Amino acid sequence: MSVLLLSVGDEILDGRILNSNAQWMGDQLRSLRVPVREIRSISDKPEHIRKTLLEAGKFKLVVATGGLGPTNDDRTMSTAAAAFKLPLVLNAKALSLVRRQYQKRSLELTESRRKLAFLPKGAKVLMNQVGTAPGALIVWGSTTFIFLPGPPNECHPMFTRFVTPIAKKLCSGRKLVARKTWRLFGKGESDIYQAISPEISELEKKFPDSFQFGIHINFPCIDLTLETWRIGSKAIPTARDLRSLLEKIESQLGSLLISRKKESLAEVVMNLLKERGATLSLAESCTGGWVGKILTDIPGSSQVLLGGVVAYANSAKEKTLGVSPEILRGKGAVSGETAQAMAEGALSLFRSTYALALSGVSGPGGGSEKKPVGTLQIGLAGPSGSFSEHHWVLKGAGTREQNRLVSVYLALDALRKTLQAKA
Ligand code: ATP
Ligand code: MG
Repeated sequence: MSVLLLSVGDEILDGRILNSNAQWMGDQLRSLRVPVREIRSISDKPEHIRKTLLEAGKFKLVVATGGLGPTNDDRTMSTAAAAFKLPLVLNAKALSLVRRQYQKRSLELTESRRKLAFLPKGAKVLMNQVGTAPGALIVWGSTTFIFLPGPPNECHPMFTRFVTPIAKKLCSGRKLVARKTWRLFGKGESDIYQAISPEISELEKKFPDSFQFGIHINFPCIDLTLETWRIGSKAIPTARDLRSLLEKIESQLGSLLISRKKESLAEVVMNLLKERGATLSLAESCTGGWVGKILTDIPGSSQVLLGGVVAYANSAKEKTLGVSPEILRGKGAVSGETAQAMAEGALSLFRSTYALALSGVSGPGGGSEKKPVGTLQIGLAGPSGSFSEHHWVLKGAGTREQNRLVSVYLALDALRKTLQAKA
């Protein structure tokens, strides 16, 4: 099964619009486990459309979007007819659909609008319930071509209705046998890959079709996915073939492993707190409430999260969290002592089981030799006392946004490790 996603339109090539159709369709096909071999974007010029359609005969399924409308730059259908050597004919079913859509809008069926009903002879009409241009399905040689309109609100429902069932049928010779996933935080993908690359290369060589291993950055986490597929009578790796890779992965994981089910770090922390019947409060400085935001993104977080304070200025750290002026003056706002005092302050303010605090230098300004950009102090207070943890986020190389996001994750991860140590 090989799939080509084809996007037609000058406005994609010159950057006027983002090719979100291809991204969306790729995502849909991924969830159906149908691999996309290629995504192509081409101009509206008939010679380019023609050349691409003829080359596309090597794919099993081609889904093209754009260029079905009534204007002079919409030439996909007429060019497909010419490329496939089919006459362009007025399709009666298409005409009645087009007429109905214009009637609904109280618009006249002009000559240029009638153009929408001209399709290559033998094409199957695909109804567009949102817009005026119908889609078309054409089987040419061993390739199924599906033509959909460009506007996403028309293309998406038509894809779901007409492409999904075909894609499912066409890929029925391919079956997922096993899938394992690991979500990691705390190391770069090159470090992780280096440790396991010999085993992966060996399996890829031995089982080029039925073994797939992916390392994807899901910033700031890393996802590992191992899949084995049954494709016809091709050899599949057995548990014995995979053993050495799995052992290597497991030995590398340690505390890096967040989830084997692709849960987010926030979900993992939330579940750990729930399991322990514990509550949480927050005291955030550099992250400005971001920890609170990602925790409250999870439905049901009110069972666990009691509240938080965004204490940005020293006066707020002093007044709301009771951090002593001596610590703030003597050690500074970004110090282990301050972060720890902030966590203790939140703990007593909210009377939660745990309290998490963050204070750091997110940049781009504000760094010093002793406290460069990326410096982060995490404070954690809980039933067995409080402590602070120092990090140098992305070794000072991150943008403000990246530094803040990684800080959120480092803080949640510190809490995760504390909770898991108490298991
Ligand atoms: P219409 O009948 O609206 O003209 P059409 O099938 O002719 O539809 P185009 O003229 O190619 O489609 O594109 C119309 C609009 O659809 C574009 O201006 C753009 O907003 C959107 N569009 C087209 N292609 C894509 C794409 N690949 N990704 C996202 N949006 C797209
Ligand atoms: Mg158009």
